[in-house]
Amino acid sequence: MYDITIVGAGIIGTFIAREISKYNISILLIDKENDVANGATKANTALVHAGYDAPTNTNMAYFNVRGNPMFDKVCEELDVPFKRIGSLVLAFDDKDMDIIKNLYQRGLNNGVKDIKILDRKATKKLEPNIGDDVIGALYAKSAGIVGPWELAIALAENAIENGVKLSLNTKVEDIKRLDGHYLIKTNEGEFNSKIIVNCAGVYADELNNIVSNNKFKITPRKGQYYLMDKSLDGLINKIVFQCPTPKGKGVVVAPTVHGNVIIGPDNEIRRYKDDTTTEKDNLNYIRESANRSIKNIAFNKVITTFAGVRADPNTRDFIIGEAEDSKGFINVAGIKSPGLTCSPAIAEYVVNLIDEKFNGLEKKDDFNPIRKKPIRFMELSDEEKNLLIKKDPRYGNIICRCENITEGEIVDAIHRKAGATTVDGIKKRVRPGSGRCQGGFCLPRVMDILAREQNISMENITKDSPSSYYLIGKTK
Ligand SMILES: Cc1cc2nc3c(=O)[nH]c(=O)nc-3n(C[C@H](O)[C@H](O)[C@H](O)COP(=O)(O)OP(=O)(O)OC[C@H]3O[C@@H](n4cnc5c(N)ncnc54)[C@H](O)[C@@H]3O)c2cc1C
Repeated sequence: MYDITIVGAGIIGTFIAREISKYNISILLIDKENDVANGATKANTALVHAGYDAPTNTNMAYFNVRGNPMFDKVCEELDVPFKRIGSLVLAFDDKDMDIIKNLYQRGLNNGVKDIKILDRKATKKLEPNIGDDVIGALYAKSAGIVGPWELAIALAENAIENGVKLSLNTKVEDIKRLDGHYLIKTNEGEFNSKIIVNCAGVYADELNNIVSNNKFKITPRKGQYYLMDKSLDGLINKIVFQCPTPKGKGVVVAPTVHGNVIIGPDNEIRRYKDDTTTEKDNLNYIRESANRSIKNIAFNKVITTFAGVRADPNTRDFIIGEAEDSKGFINVAGIKSPGLTCSPAIAEYVVNLIDEKFNGLEKKDDFNPIRKKPIRFMELSDEEKNLLIKKDPRYGNIICRCENITEGEIVDAIHRKAGATTVDGIKKRVRPGSGRCQGGFCLPRVMDILAREQNISMENITKDSPSSYYLIGKTK
């Protein structure tokens, strides 16, 4: 019997797992996928929002403003890239200027600090490449950029270090309420748990609706992106938004923590919850919108396009709390944007809820908040590189030439806690295949290392999902 079972190892589930691993309690974290952060957490704009966008007095506004300042500490403890670079919402006409004034006022109401309205000259000083039509902007100093899946992976690693059990490839298929606990039926067998925390992203409604009569519905809303080559580094300094529309926050042009530029997303309802295809018309719309914000974006430097799916709840706001008719079943559902930004504050809140349920949790004396730092070979001095190669020659073997990733780093990513088992798992952790060639050169070499280290054949290596094989057999 587990005390707590967390369903879903996205940013929300992993944050809660790490937060609750500070206490003497048994915790199981499960996900249907073969890796942590394979849902919305791996495909979003990666922004830590300031907090002026969400309507006042919503969960979204509250957790956004509380979550934003929590990123510095956690990213330092877990060695995850995070930069507080600030954001601009551009105005192109007087109507936009009115929206910006409203956003400014809403920001103040929500408790956002360090926001101001700028005229064209001041905006251009901060962002020299803004479009010619821009007349002013809302500037928020506290907005930032983060590595979302790196953070979720690091949280999972640290949670496991502190006693959490992670079970991947484990899909919750049914839940039965028994006397004082739940029986969770999965494709990997049954688990008993006193408390379930439902962090199942776009599927959280389906789990809630099994156990509770207070049903809700989650609609998938797809957002598509361009990811640009690092040669565009310097095009922009800040996160550049346009004014929000009823459909969402609008197309963003932003630097990433790895030195690329990300452009997107749009916001469209889709029929299927796992539809992450990209579509020409939507990408064209994103391109036209971005060209209005920033001049001379070199769209011949696109290195990939991708899409993520938001979990949009029919309540219009995050659903966080115990289901009234199902004691011990805690929903953390409908966590659409700005869910990434809210994640540390949501985790703190949910752990307080659990603390109340157990009438006070006992703190561990030996909780270790620090994740063992992965070696990033290219960040070492020449002397450190030479020493490391002498100790382990695999660090002298460059596998990915675009991102300069060594064999040693890839092997480490496989054998760490919550280690990678797929090509995308390696890419999420150490970035081979994230550069200009998108794996054109390094893919066979990464597959070879994955096969060798896991003692399986190359034919069994997958891209991400269980059946996404690259090879079907030998030709010669
Ligand atoms: C296009 C887009 C842009 C965004 N931009 C931003 C942004 O810039 N800033 C920001 O703050 N937020 C942003 N967000 C929101 C943010 O990405 C999400 O709020 C956050 O990732 C949600 O995390 P999660 O853990 O709830 O969901 P997910 O990451 O989707 O995780 C849910 C997990 O549950 C698992 N699961 C589902 N069903 C089952 C089951 N039956 N059994 C076992 N496991 C199951 C899934 O496999 C998945 O891993 C954006 C979202 C999108 C889609």
